[in-house]
Amino acid sequence: MDKKMDNKSPKCPHKGCNCPVEREGEYCGAYCEGQADKAMAKCECDHPGCGH
Ligand SMILES: [Zn+2]
Ligand SMILES: [Zn+2]
Repeated sequence: MDKKMDNKSPKCPHKGCNCPVEREGEYCGAYCEGQADKAMAKCECDHPGCGH
């Protein structure tokens, strides 16, 4: 385990998504949770600052 990661806010594990999340390994929303297995070029979770 790399403890250095604790200093940063965790991000949504969905590829292409840059949304911050509260806990490591947590998805930013239902969209990313549902699309987690698919490698999308961009995220369409519709959160501000994401999916561009
Ligand atoms: Zn996103
Ligand atoms: Zn996400």
